[in-house]
Amino acid sequence: AAKQRGRNRYNFFTPSMQESVEKRMRLANELRIAISGEQFTLYYQPIVELSSGRIQKAEALIRWVHPKHGRISPADFIPIAEETGLINEIGNWVFLEAARQVKIWRERYQPDMQISVNKSPIQFRSEAHHESVWIDHLKSLNLPGHCMVVEITEGLLMDAGEAVSRRLLAFRDAGIQVALDDFGTGYSSLSYLKKFDIDYLKIDQSFVRNLTPDSPDLALCEAIIVMAHKLGIKVVAEGVETEQQRNLLIGAQCDYAQGYWYSRPVPATEFDLLLQQNPLSVARPAA
Ligand code: C2E
Ligand code: MG
Ligand code: MG
Ligand code: MG
Repeated sequence: AAKQRGRNRYNFFTPSMQESVEKRMRLANELRIAISGEQFTLYYQPIVELSSGRIQKAEALIRWVHPKHGRISPADFIPIAEETGLINEIGNWVFLEAARQVKIWRERYQPDMQISVNKSPIQFRSEAHHESVWIDHLKSLNLPGHCMVVEITEGLLMDAGEAVSRRLLAFRDAGIQVALDDFGTGYSSLSYLKKFDIDYLKIDQSFVRNLTPDSPDLALCEAIIVMAHKLGIKVVAEGVETEQQRNLLIGAQCDYAQGYWYSRPVPATEFDLLLQQNPLSVARPAA
């Protein structure tokens, strides 16, 4: 009977669905190998302070370099890491590696440098996540908590239970800052902004992409920035690709910008070069 059910289930999948299930299972196995085989690396993208034009933060973005298939995008493997629970191990590695890196950059180039890491809602809710590991790691590096920023998404706060609230508080107690990523794309309720202590809002790329002087997107960005500032929250604009976008954001009193116009995400050795010429010539504040 079990075999019968199994076959029925098998028949349920269309050929392409079957293929994608196999592909996902293969990917899951290869993820396990990747964790032990050091196939992950972090790229860093500068976050520029608009008033001074200097790089003050970086976002750490994971890259998987597969020995056969080459670079695999986080958009393709993070969901599988979440389904399989491997996200906890990967997330811990990302945090520890980013902390090690920011310590070096603070000592060599930029005493107030900060690095932000992404934390998926599943990772945040997971029972297996022990924030104490991160906090202990910072202590052992002799690194203050405010060197690190954790990026979370709106969805996490919408249905935040006890465990999530406790975790956010533990980060805050350790001085680790919190940013709300992809802001504006999730939910229309803003009540969580007064309920949780957030340091940064990151305006989603979709609002920055079509930013022109008379665009509704500019009105939205301006309103988000005014609201955030009244709540004591700083604003980062994501996906800045043109000088016009940058200038409009400066006009709207935006605090920070991140995007290809400044730099794509780059390996740490290339980021060294950006810090050596900080502020970037391209990034100087508008006159
Ligand atoms: P995100 O956190 O919103 O990161 C920003 C994404 O936008 C990055 O894509 C970055 O390369 C891209 N980007 C930056 N500037 C521009 C621009 O000017 N134009 C355009 N078109 N894109 C830009 P990436 O690195 O492929 O990462 C995609 C997503 O994967 C991230 O979105 C984040 O949600 C997730 N991710 C990346 N690394 C990690 C990680 O270590 N842990 C977890 N849980 N998620 C991660
Ligand atoms: Mg992010
Ligand atoms: Mg984002
Ligand atoms: Mg995103």
